Amino acid sequence: MSLHGTYDEQNIFAKIIRGEAPCYKLYEDEDVLAFLDLFPQSYGHCLVIPKHAPARNLLEIDDANLAKLMAVVRKLTQAVVDELEPAGVQVAQFNGAPAGQTVFHIHVHIVPRYEGDKLGIHATHQGDAEELKALQARLVKRING
Ligand code: AMP
Repeated sequence: MSLHGTYDEQNIFAKIIRGEAPCYKLYEDEDVLAFLDLFPQSYGHCLVIPKHAPARNLLEIDDANLAKLMAVVRKLTQAVVDELEPAGVQVAQFNGAPAGQTVFHIHVHIVPRYEGDKLGIHATHQGDAEELKALQARLVKRING
């Protein structure tokens, strides 16, 4: 019943929001946080989450927070496209374990796709720290530039 349930304040994204767990932060404002996926499925895989909506999925988030979340999703997607010049970009959001959800704090994936590159396996291989750091620097510069 992972589609239904109680929001767990100890989930990893809640810990990242509270500063109890690290992340490769890309963007933050009053309501929304964006960071690199630690187990990227492609070069530039990012996540965007609401900071003040204890929602497990799309069905639980309020409209105001959803609107703020999606505004940042678009802003970051634009930065990813401008900086990394992928051939395409997937924007995805999963609800419930059977749909692929593994972290139960609503989040949106931004996954750049490159010609001829297969998608990595979901949430499996941790990215190289140096590569993630360099990518973070590129994207932060692009977002702020
Ligand atoms: P989902 O399967 O849609 O719930 O996506 C959860 C995503 O979070 C996966 O793509 C994981 O690779 C990613 N992830 C898990 N733990 C962390 C973490 N500590 N920092 C960044 N990304 C994470």
